[in-house]
Amino acid sequence: MSVLVAGAGPAGLAAALALRAEGIPVTVLEARQRGTQQEGSRALYVHRDSLALLEKVSPGLGQAIAEHGLTWRVRRTYYRGRLVFERVHPERPGSPPFASLRQSDTEGFLLRACESAGVRFEWDARVEDVSVSAREVRVRTVDGRQWSGAYLIGADGARSTVRRSAGIAVAGPPAFGFHVVLDVEAGDGDVMLRERTFHYHHPRLGGRHVLLVPFTGGFQVDLQCRADDSAAEWGDLDTARQWVRRAVDDFGKRRIRWASTYRFLRVVADDFADADRRVLLIGEAAHLFPPFGARGMNSGFADALAAASAIADAGRARSEPARAEAIEEFAGVRRAAAVRNASATERALAHLTAGPGGRLRQRAAAVLSPVAPACGRWLESAPYGVAPSGRASGKH
Ligand SMILES: Cc1cc2nc3c(=O)[nH]c(=O)nc-3n(C[C@H](O)[C@H](O)[C@H](O)COP(=O)(O)OP(=O)(O)OC[C@H]3O[C@@H](n4cnc5c(N)ncnc54)[C@H](O)[C@@H]3O)c2cc1C
Repeated sequence: MSVLVAGAGPAGLAAALALRAEGIPVTVLEARQRGTQQEGSRALYVHRDSLALLEKVSPGLGQAIAEHGLTWRVRRTYYRGRLVFERVHPERPGSPPFASLRQSDTEGFLLRACESAGVRFEWDARVEDVSVSAREVRVRTVDGRQWSGAYLIGADGARSTVRRSAGIAVAGPPAFGFHVVLDVEAGDGDVMLRERTFHYHHPRLGGRHVLLVPFTGGFQVDLQCRADDSAAEWGDLDTARQWVRRAVDDFGKRRIRWASTYRFLRVVADDFADADRRVLLIGEAAHLFPPFGARGMNSGFADALAAASAIADAGRARSEPARAEAIEEFAGVRRAAAVRNASATERALAHLTAGPGGRLRQRAAAVLSPVAPACGRWLESAPYGVAPSGRASGKH
């Protein structure tokens, strides 16, 4: 039995590794050319659970990512310029709670691990069409080449061709508002690399919310724009050079490496496998979440391992119903996880775009935070969609 994976993003690479760990031959078909990367730091936060999953399928991989990544130990939240929450975490021996690094760096570690594990790569191979028979999946790439495998994992991102070919619809509310995201270069010892900071209603940015997240080599600035702001204007690099100086004290000669805009989108596919249970969807081919809460890439890793394990179980099944059931279980479990993640991002969005009542509660919490630390904790955690119980979950 051999398996095809469409897409060499983090989800596809993790799936390929997990398949190899099961002893299954795998070919990854990727539209990009060898050696090219997508721009920008994008998904920074690799959760402890993800590090453990990657370590499981490729011993040393989770550790290498953790060692390269940065783990900030200080978290601060400000409300209209006033500190309402601060937590300094002591340094602890053992595996870190997370690692913060550019997505391209994470992909580099995954790619090298895949190559060592014997994953076969076909670059410049954009999947155009998929057809499924009782025993196999056939794939045609835009250059007319044909491929076949017992299963196809669709890890080809938000505009997934595999999902469309399999006739699987996606559902979710319309996109809301927009954010500007910048990568700012910073060297070792830069004070900006020490803490993750969230500003409610930044006083020097007309009351817009700003999140600053450090990673190895720099920090990401995420500005939540207003409904009537112009994305072209705020996302423009020259304009960003001006407003970022108001967001970051002593910005000095630091350089902006990347600027982009994105919208808050929450989308979940109706099914995570096709009707024949031969095509499995993972990562953004199956679901799309806004970055707050770091659910995109981390849940893609969990999908990837679940898909590989289901395929291995299906390969050992003694009957067709048992085979289909193994895939069905993957689809059910991972779709339920995606629905939970989508609800969390809905909570985050409701908090970040609160109406008059919500804003009043946030203001009251900010006023009370010096005497009622729970209010500060709530202001700190709510932008990430943490459940009302206050428990942060690493399960994606
Ligand atoms: C600004 C920003 C910040 C983010 N921050 C975070 C964060 O902190 N934490 C987090 O978890 N997530 C974050 N995300 C989301 C994260 O970047 C995505 O969840 C992640 O890239 C999805 O991985 P993927 O492998 O599913 O898809 P992708 O990374 O999109 O990879 C899909 C791959 O498939 C290839 N492809 C596409 N079509 C085809 C085709 N037809 N045939 C073959 N190959 C194809 C593409 O070239 C690409 O290599 C962020 C995203 C953005 C934009």
